Amino acid sequence: MKYCVIMDIRINYLKKALDEARNIDEIKLADRIKTIGFKCRRCAECCKSEKGDNTVMVSPPEIRRICERTGRKQEDFTVPMPSEDRDMAGNVHTFEWVLKKGGDCIFLKDGLCEIYECRPYICRTYPFYLADGHLHVSECAGTGGAINNEDSLKIAALLKERYIAEINESISLFGKFRGFRPGGKGNTCVHDSEGEHWVDSEIYNL
Ligand code: SF4
Repeated sequence: MKYCVIMDIRINYLKKALDEARNIDEIKLADRIKTIGFKCRRCAECCKSEKGDNTVMVSPPEIRRICERTGRKQEDFTVPMPSEDRDMAGNVHTFEWVLKKGGDCIFLKDGLCEIYECRPYICRTYPFYLADGHLHVSECAGTGGAINNEDSLKIAALLKERYIAEINESISLFGKFRGFRPGGKGNTCVHDSEGEHWVDSEIYNL
């Protein structure tokens, strides 16, 4: 099958998923969250490396928001998503960016998030996420805790917003994706919703 046909199939699948995401019933979703239960214990385990994967993917709009709110440059707090994929010239290709880590997330200071007000969706909705329209729960000591109607509705609304944003990000990414081709300035290419970003791995200490 031709490459552009495969991309079209993916984009059409995502557009259908987007329609379904927009129709998610937040009240039903909130009921499910309430049944599971959640009370954040402020343990910050989700930001630490010792309890498992603490990778936080960030989209271009989220990166911009953090830059605007904190005055930091993108290269101060993101790295390309780790990848083994290479093009014919040996350049690394990857999809999206992740927050830098020094083991724990670099924004974790004395057990608190330095960018709490503009932290990414993944952090704001942890331990919940939606995939293929279904609610999933990551490991978290806070699950099972008491949650009221208002808070479960807030999480449900944010989960839906995040899910729609993620699908839109993927649609834009695949719309601009032209494969793993050499040609940019740098040895690492990050593909995201805004196209290709060629960077030198040295800048990011990769
Ligand atoms: S951005 Fe904040 S909430 Fe998210 S992992 Fe880092 S320290 Fe934790």
